[in-house]
Amino acid sequence: MLSKKNTARCGPSNPVAICQPPPYTRVPAKNGGNETSQVIGVLSCIDYRVTPELVSLLYSEYKDFDIFVLAGASLGACGQLSCEWCGTFANHLNVMSSFHQVRELLIVEHLECGAYANNVPQVYQGRAAQIAAHTQYALNTVALVQKAFPSWTIRAVLVEPGQTLQLVKWIYNPL
Ligand SMILES: [Zn+2]
Repeated sequence: MLSKKNTARCGPSNPVAICQPPPYTRVPAKNGGNETSQVIGVLSCIDYRVTPELVSLLYSEYKDFDIFVLAGASLGACGQLSCEWCGTFANHLNVMSSFHQVRELLIVEHLECGAYANNVPQVYQGRAAQIAAHTQYALNTVALVQKAFPSWTIRAVLVEPGQTLQLVKWIYNPL
C-alpha cells in the first residue's frame, strides 16, 4: 500500500500550500521557448498492461514525446499520495518545458488501477465510481498544470486495459 504520509498537508483539497510554490512555478525555457514544438509530454501510470501499447501509440502519432510515470497517474501527480511525488512531477514539467520545449501534456488514466484501489475506496462501488474518481483527480491535475503553464494544451484521457487499450472517455480535451 502506498504511503499516505503528509497527505493532510497536500493534495486536491489543499494543493497550493505545498505543491504550488515552488514546484509548480514555471521555470523559463533557456532558449526563450518554442511554441511550435512537436514534443508532447505524457503522464501515465506504472501499469504494465498499459505502458507497452501506450508507447506504441505515442510512437506512431508523435515524433517526440516525454513520458513521466507515477503510480496512479493523476492520483500521484496532484499530491494525493505524496507531497514528494507532486513536487517531483512539477519539477519534471519544468524540465520538459525548459529542455524539450514541451507545450502539450497528455494525461493517461486507466481503469482497474491498483493505486486507486489502494487509496480511493470509492472505486469499489463499481465502474461508474471508478470513472468518477479518475475524472476528479485528472481534472485536479489539469487545473494545477494549467495554472503553472497557461499556454499549454492539456488533455486527459481514460482508457481500459485489455488485449488492446480501449478508450473509455476523454476526461478533458479542449481541442
Ligand atoms: Zn494504474
